Amino acid sequence: MKLIYSNENQFLVNNAKNILENHNIEVTLKNEFASGAAGVLAPIDTWVELWIINDIDEEKAETILAQALKQQGEHDWFCQQCQEQNDASFDSCWQCQTEKAS
Ligand SMILES: [Zn+2]
Repeated sequence: MKLIYSNENQFLVNNAKNILENHNIEVTLKNEFASGAAGVLAPIDTWVELWIINDIDEEKAETILAQALKQQGEHDWFCQQCQEQNDASFDSCWQCQTEKAS
């Protein structure tokens, strides 16, 4: 068993679980029902954890998850002013400082 993914947002962990199961990787959740104990345990202890059953799947699972989570993330955007491509994490164009259009 290996821990492959953890997040305070249970929805994201469940989503990751579904993704891996769709690739025929056996997984299990831990701390699924621990969120009610927040305040007693340190917050990190209540994060839902996704574990893979077979260690041999680890590399494959990591690759699949990295790809899937990237696709779900924000997309790059193009500056309206200079047409430059900007990373999703930038709030303004790195080249001409024009603010990202909402
Ligand atoms: Zn620009």
